[in-house]
Amino acid sequence: MAPATPLLRGFYGGTFDPIHQGHLQSALYVQQACKLDSLDLLPCHLPPHRDSPSSSAHRAEMVRLAIAPYPQLRLNLLELERDTPSYTVDTLTELRRQYPSDILCFVIGMDSLCYFTRWHRWPDILVLCHLLVLQRPGYSAASGDAPGLLQQFGSQSVSALRAAKHGHILLLQNPPVDVSATAIRSGSAPASLQISDVQTYIQQHGLYRG
Ligand code: ATP
Repeated sequence: MAPATPLLRGFYGGTFDPIHQGHLQSALYVQQACKLDSLDLLPCHLPPHRDSPSSSAHRAEMVRLAIAPYPQLRLNLLELERDTPSYTVDTLTELRRQYPSDILCFVIGMDSLCYFTRWHRWPDILVLCHLLVLQRPGYSAASGDAPGLLQQFGSQSVSALRAAKHGHILLLQNPPVDVSATAIRSGSAPASLQISDVQTYIQQHGLYRG
């Protein structure tokens, strides 16, 4: 019997404090553009000084509400269920253990690629997965670490991702959505860039008031 084709599994990490249209639209885009077999949103555990006023439970619930209409997206509680913040390399090591035969893709925004070499054990991350990089308004592939990383690891196509288990960086052409969680917490983001069920949740629970 021929060996099963490995699945292409995406993981989109973030604080999601709160999740917004930039996250949601780009998650839907990357799942479809890369034909990911699964895409998990992976809220990170925040250190105590950053975890106020929204607790981990609130952030997870807001992700759950945001993705409810989209069965192609899943909430993954791996990091939130730990007692302390975890490094991405450790999370990916655990995911590699869970999915030994599949191809793992970690999704980040261009802002993250620009300082990726400051991530803990970043070369090991590229031995565990591919990176899928989202365009984000205000950040360019010509800045910071991005040009060097793309020269060494850059890939042109999704088929190249399927042909290797790790080590490629693919720039995505997602439509830009100019919003940040910071803008939502400070009340300066337009409603159109928020997710209405999440907005309702924020109001009901009195989040980000202080
Ligand atoms: P904050 O304003 O609190 O720093 P954020 O809006 O940047 O938050 P995060 O949860 O920190 O959101 O982001 C998680 C991931 O999503 C990061 O890799 C980030 O680059 C990416 N991302 C966030 N907002 C956008 C956006 N508008 N477009 C594309 N990628 C985004």
